[in-house]
Amino acid sequence: MTIGQALDRLKKSDFRAGFHLSQKDRAYIEKKGYPVIQQHARDFVQKRLAPAQIPNDGKQTPMRGHPVFVAQHACACCCRRCLEKWYHIPQGVELTEAQKEGVVNLLMAWIVREMKQDRREYNVEIKTAAK
Ligand SMILES: [Zn+2]
Repeated sequence: MTIGQALDRLKKSDFRAGFHLSQKDRAYIEKKGYPVIQQHARDFVQKRLAPAQIPNDGKQTPMRGHPVFVAQHACACCCRRCLEKWYHIPQGVELTEAQKEGVVNLLMAWIVREMKQDRREYNVEIKTAAK
């Protein structure tokens, strides 16, 4: 499955498609830049997703607080159960380097796409219409 195919599939899930970056997330990404965000994504995947055994699997990814967390939920890369369900990556086995990189690439693709869809314009429209 390519990244484009994965993103298309995620869009069809109301639950996954309901996740979006907050203004705070956007400001944070703008301040840090993509290379830093990508490094954070690598760290999170390495520590919270890659190990064979994760004691709190299913609860290791907060719903907000970092753009990568939001991306993980949006991309079904939040826990090993979701990775298995969506990408057929078996639980109980450490992720390979290629799998880790694949997850990071998907998360970054989602974040970049999300950044291009600026929702601020939409908010302005609502305010104008309410007058
Ligand atoms: Zn999950």
